[in-house]
Amino acid sequence: MLSSKYVLIAALFAAGGAFAQSGDVSRSLSEVTGDVWRFDNDFHVSMVVLTEDGAVVTDPINTDAATWLENEVRERFGREVIYMLPSHSHGDHGAGGEVFADTATIIAHENYQKAVGQNFGPTAPADILFSDKLTLEHGGKTFELTYVGAGHGDDMVVTVVRPDNVAFVVDIVSPKRLPWRDSTTAIEGMIGQVEAVQELDFDILVPGHSINGTMEDVTETLAYLEELKSKVMAELAAGRSLEEIVSAVSMPGYEDWANYAEWLPLNVEGAVKALQ
Ligand SMILES: [Zn+2]
Repeated sequence: MLSSKYVLIAALFAAGGAFAQSGDVSRSLSEVTGDVWRFDNDFHVSMVVLTEDGAVVTDPINTDAATWLENEVRERFGREVIYMLPSHSHGDHGAGGEVFADTATIIAHENYQKAVGQNFGPTAPADILFSDKLTLEHGGKTFELTYVGAGHGDDMVVTVVRPDNVAFVVDIVSPKRLPWRDSTTAIEGMIGQVEAVQELDFDILVPGHSINGTMEDVTETLAYLEELKSKVMAELAAGRSLEEIVSAVSMPGYEDWANYAEWLPLNVEGAVKALQ
């Protein structure tokens, strides 16, 4: 007779997810399209694309996450990771690249390289650098890498996978969630970065945080940032202090977004520092 534990594990696999607990970290792989998979590592998200010749990953996240992912891709899909396309060099997304360096070619924006070995955690230098756009054709897939300019970091790359039409967008659009804490100190550059994402063509957005989205989430994020900027500028023009502005500014159209209550004051504070 089957134990209930066996039945539970069988049910999880039947549902299409691979779940693992390592210490307190929750990890899963879930299908986005036939060949594109979303990798959740607690509150961070990365992406795996299966090609006719190996797998392509985006962010390694960290050494433990990348080790789990490499093993999962090998055991579950019978593929090696042959390309790594990191979004940017912030350590919570980009660390762990050394795990894939043995088998994978790493492609990143040219500003990525200066962060390697600095304030970034363990990783590996990129093998191929680009400045504006790069198109990679491999194993029946096309990967369109676009540099979206400086703002949140100075090496942010958005990758669109075809023919699946899935975009990987980290930190600058997190669907139905406020921007991270006081990351709005870069609000003007972030607006430019989100506008650059709006120029791209895709159906599904896999983010670095939060739920999957669409272009509608890009448009909503742009509207949020522009409303925040204009409200903060109006308060600054009225001569108010940081404390007064933080308590005065509300964004009632976004109260149902995740982290609204905790992060709005920090979003406002970041914007004040950027715009004063
Ligand atoms: Zn970041």
